[in-house]
Amino acid sequence: MAARPHLVLDGVLLAADAVGADRAHLYVGRDHRVAVAALRRAVAERRGELGRRVSVVEAPAGYVSGEETAAVRYLNEGGARPSSTPPRPFQRGVGGRATLVQNVESLAAAALIARFGDGWYRSAGRDQTRGSALVTVSGPVAHPGVQEIELGTTVGEVATTAGLAGPARAVLLGGYFGAWATIEEAWQLPLDPARMRAMSLAFGCGIVAFLPADVCGVDATARVVSSMAAASAGQCGPCVFGLGAIAAATGRLARGAAQPDDLQRLARWVSQLPGRGACRHPDGAAGFVRSALRVFAQEFSLHQHHRRCSHVQLLRRAA
Ligand code: SF4
Repeated sequence: MAARPHLVLDGVLLAADAVGADRAHLYVGRDHRVAVAALRRAVAERRGELGRRVSVVEAPAGYVSGEETAAVRYLNEGGARPSSTPPRPFQRGVGGRATLVQNVESLAAAALIARFGDGWYRSAGRDQTRGSALVTVSGPVAHPGVQEIELGTTVGEVATTAGLAGPARAVLLGGYFGAWATIEEAWQLPLDPARMRAMSLAFGCGIVAFLPADVCGVDATARVVSSMAAASAGQCGPCVFGLGAIAAATGRLARGAAQPDDLQRLARWVSQLPGRGACRHPDGAAGFVRSALRVFAQEFSLHQHHRRCSHVQLLRRAA
């Protein structure tokens, strides 16, 4: 959005033509100042040729503001909180009309396909999955940031391109709605949504976050869950209390202050929470913690029974 706003706008116009839309809203997080300014400029530059009303809407900060029903509610009445479904936006959305909600990466890809043809797009990709995707790489790497990969590129190749600078023990794939995998199982894993799904992993928003070998997995998990609990829209009991309890128990385990049955309860709660909120926010958090309990099983057990693990000691010494 910041660097190629006209490409995104091209995709918006293609999608609007495809569904016969006479209005388009570019819903952008208000913290993304550069992107908001670039899109406003692009819309103004093409004002005469858009063929419909196109507006740039600054979305409130917050993780769930980007959820599609939250976006529709914000445009309708303000307050970017998810709504129960059905109806999904494609059934009844902005102004009560059927609404297509589409992400920026897909819109930009559609604009490129329209320009260069589907054969061009299909020339990228490995095995059965064609095309390319953006992934965001972080952790102990020399070149953190966004990489464009052909689908099917392995996690190991992404690590090498980013210049993995030190030993990593695990990698978070797909973002906070995704899952941890050990570095061994992930290294040869193709970043391909279909194949990842078959392994109970998620491509999600393309996050590839490496966890350094000397960082405690329980602590890293607790930080993520705490921010997911804070990001809850606060309107569904199971999300507010269930996710809050999961975050509190994970935090106690990480701090070495576990109650006697925290680990046991955590395992039970992550299987009970999914499907009980208006949106999938708690489901994502539960899946994420479930993956942590598998990948960092030994550390969770050490934190429960001995209140710490060797990684925590390393962290404290470094601090
Ligand atoms: S499940 Fe959580 S984030 Fe989703 S609508 Fe309910 S309270 Fe908000």
